Amino acid sequence: MKFDYLVVGAGLFGAVFAERAKAAGKSVLVIDKRDHVGGNIYTESVEGINVHKYGAHIFHTNNKEVWQYITRFAEFNRYTNSPVANYHGELYSLPFNMYTFNKMWGVVTPDEARDKIAEQRAAAGITEPKNLEEQAISLVGTDIYERLVKGYTEKQWGRPCTALPSFIIRRLPVRFTFDNNYFNALYQGIPIGGYTAMVERMLEGIEVRLGVDYLENRAELDALADKVVYTGPIDSYFGYCYGYLGYRSVRFETELLDTDNYQGNAVINYTDRETPYTRIIEHKHFEFGSQPKTVISKEYSQEWQPGIEPYYPINDEENGALYAKYKELADKENKTIFGGRLAQYRYYDMDAVIASALEEAERELA
Ligand SMILES: Cc1cc2nc3c(=O)[nH]c(=O)nc-3n(C[C@H](O)[C@H](O)[C@H](O)COP(=O)(O)OP(=O)(O)OC[C@H]3O[C@@H](n4cnc5c(N)ncnc54)[C@H](O)[C@@H]3O)c2cc1C
Repeated sequence: MKFDYLVVGAGLFGAVFAERAKAAGKSVLVIDKRDHVGGNIYTESVEGINVHKYGAHIFHTNNKEVWQYITRFAEFNRYTNSPVANYHGELYSLPFNMYTFNKMWGVVTPDEARDKIAEQRAAAGITEPKNLEEQAISLVGTDIYERLVKGYTEKQWGRPCTALPSFIIRRLPVRFTFDNNYFNALYQGIPIGGYTAMVERMLEGIEVRLGVDYLENRAELDALADKVVYTGPIDSYFGYCYGYLGYRSVRFETELLDTDNYQGNAVINYTDRETPYTRIIEHKHFEFGSQPKTVISKEYSQEWQPGIEPYYPINDEENGALYAKYKELADKENKTIFGGRLAQYRYYDMDAVIASALEEAERELA
C-alpha cells in the first residue's frame, strides 16, 4: 500500500478530509474526474473576474469552529448577500422585509405590514394547506405569493405550485425590519482570490491526480490505499443497481460583456413565470470588482438526466426510500467512507459539508 487514504473527489468534503489526514501524519492521494480541484465551488478567472462555474457560492455560517478552520486557507471579504427580485421589471428587496412591503403596498411601519399580510391570509381562508400554493398563501398572503414566490418556484421545480407538496416551504422568511441581509449568519463572505485558490491551499503538499475517474479504474486505485473516502454519487458507486437517484439540475448560460456593470448586484432573481431563467449572476460583484468588463450567468433550472450535472437532491418519498437502500449497502463497505453531498444524497451548504468532514476526520483519525 502506497497511501493510507485515497480521497475520491477534490471538492470541499474531500479537501477538508485530505487536509486533516495529512495534518495527522497520514499519506493521502486525492483524485478527481474533473480537470480541476474544488468540486462545485470551483471558480475560474475570466478577465480577472472569479466566475463561479457551477453556480454562485456565498459562504455563511454560525459555526465558529468551521469559520476558524476555513479562514486559515483564505481571507474572506465583507460580501453580504442581498438579492433583488425582478418581477416584470418591478424590483423588490429580498428576503421579504420592510423594503419589500413598502414597495408592494406603500406601507411604512411594521404594524401596517403585519396587518396587510394577516388580512390577505384571512381572506384566503386556508386552514389545511394541500399544496405549495396554499401553503405559501397561508404564510405570506396572495400578493407576495403571486409576484415573488409562484413563478420562481414553478421554474425551479418545473411544475405548477398546485402540484408541488406543501412541505417544500414549511416557512418563508418574513422580516419586519429594514434588513436586506439574506443570511442570518454570524460570519459571511467570499474568499478573496476565489474558492479555487482556497482549495489549492488546503491541498498543498498532497498528491492530486486530475482527470481520473475512480469508477473506471477501481481495482487499480483501491490497491493503492488502505481506505477510500468516496465523495461521488452513491448510486454510481453501486453501479445504479437499484436505479438512479433523482436530482434537479441547472444549466448556465455565461457571457462576457463589454460593460463594467450589467445589473448593479451579484444576484437578481427573476420571479415572473415568463422569463425563462430563474436568476442572473454578475460574478464581479461578489468581490467588488472594478474590471472594465463583466461576466454574467443566466441560470435555467432543469430536470436531471444521466450525463448532466446533478445539483439538488429531490427529497421526496421515492428518492428517500431509494437512498435508504443504497445507504444499507454503503454501511457494509468496510474499506470505504462515504461523505459529502453526492455520497450522502443531501443538500449541504458549504459550512455543513466542512463540519461533516471535520467530524468524519476526527472520528477516523483519532
Ligand atoms: C447551484 C448551487 C449553489 C450553491 N450555493 C451555495 C452557497 O451559496 N452557499 C453554500 O454554503 N453552499 C452552496 N451550495 C452547496 C455547495 O456546493 C456544497 O456544499 C459543496 O460543493 C459540497 O462539496 P462536496 O465535496 O460534497 O461535493 P462536490 O463539490 O460535488 O465534490 C465532489 C467531487 O467528486 C468528484 N467525483 C465524483 N465522482 C467521481 C469519480 N467517480 N471519480 C473521481 N471523482 C469523482 C466530482 O468531480 C467533484 O469534484 C450550492 C450548491 C449548488 C448546487
